Amino acid sequence: MKHKTKVERRTFLRKALTASAVIPLAGIPIILRADHHRVDEADPSAVALGYRHDAASVDTKKYPVRGTPEGKKQFCSNCKLYQAGNDGWGGCAIFPGKQVKGKGWCGAWISS
Ligand code: SF4
Repeated sequence: MKHKTKVERRTFLRKALTASAVIPLAGIPIILRADHHRVDEADPSAVALGYRHDAASVDTKKYPVRGTPEGKKQFCSNCKLYQAGNDGWGGCAIFPGKQVKGKGWCGAWISS
C-alpha cells in the first residue's frame, strides 16, 4: 500500500516536470509570429553571434565556416531555428520576439 503511494507520487512528479518543460516551449512559435520587430545588427546578442542581415557581409575571418563552400549555402532561411514570416523576414529562437532576415546568418546556424 505504502509502496504504491510512492510510485504514484513519483509518476505524478515526473508528469508535472515534463508538462512544465513542454508548455513554455509550445508558446514560442506564437510569440515569435506575433512580434514584428527586427533584430538590430548592433544588438549585443547579434554582435556576439556575428548576425548579419546579409549573409554575404559576415566577417569570414571571425566566422571562417561561412566562407567555406558549404558555409556559403547557409542562410537564416534554411536554418533549423528559422520560422518563415512575411517579406523575407522570420522568427528565430535565438532572438525571441525579434525577426531575422531570411538572407541573414549568424554563428548559431543549424542544419534543418
Ligand atoms: S540561429 Fe539561424 S535563423 Fe537564427 S539568426 Fe542564426 S542563422 Fe539566422
